[in-house]
Amino acid sequence: MRKSNDRLILGYDRFKATVGVSAAVFGRELEEKSRELGAPDFSSMIQVHGNRIAQAMPGVIHPETDALVSDRKGLMLYGCFADCLPIYVWDEDKDLIGLAHAGWKGTAGRIAQLLVEHLIELGASELSAFIGPGICAKHYQVSAGFDQLLKPVEPSAYISADESFYFDLFAENRAQLEQYLPAERIAQSDSCTFSDPAYYSYRRDQQTRGRNLAYLMLK
Ligand SMILES: [Zn+2]
Repeated sequence: MRKSNDRLILGYDRFKATVGVSAAVFGRELEEKSRELGAPDFSSMIQVHGNRIAQAMPGVIHPETDALVSDRKGLMLYGCFADCLPIYVWDEDKDLIGLAHAGWKGTAGRIAQLLVEHLIELGASELSAFIGPGICAKHYQVSAGFDQLLKPVEPSAYISADESFYFDLFAENRAQLEQYLPAERIAQSDSCTFSDPAYYSYRRDQQTRGRNLAYLMLK
């Protein structure tokens, strides 16, 4: 999927087998993608399911980082995903954007909430957000007591049904964003990576090396 307006390019595409490739190969693949998207520069991150946020630098693949922020026009932010949620945030007036990677650990570490707080510290005041494709609650079975581990802002994100347990990453990340953003400024994808063959899914494809690429850029 790709959305574009006069200020932003926002997208989520099936990408490549990025897991295990060298940084040099990954960088070349991102260069190629940037040419396709018409992005003059790019920055990416090596995600570790943490909650560290970095200021995106052109040409840099930031290590041990799960969110990037930027105020630069023409700098594409990239992250790789397969079931985890991409969280896109931007200011409607100022040139400020952020892209976060929220799997369960990042969600437990409140990465979506921290990203918004970080952008507010940088001067954002009119933030909007989009939660991109990811695994839906029905396909995200978890162990009993998962809520004790994750300590969700939104307790109803932990679902018990027929003696099984599920977690709604969308609901929890939305609740984290709603601590600062009005609900009407948060949109979300209705696409589940597990059930949509257009995308790689870590759970469905048995720990595939394939990843989807999320991207966000100020024009
Ligand atoms: Zn699903």
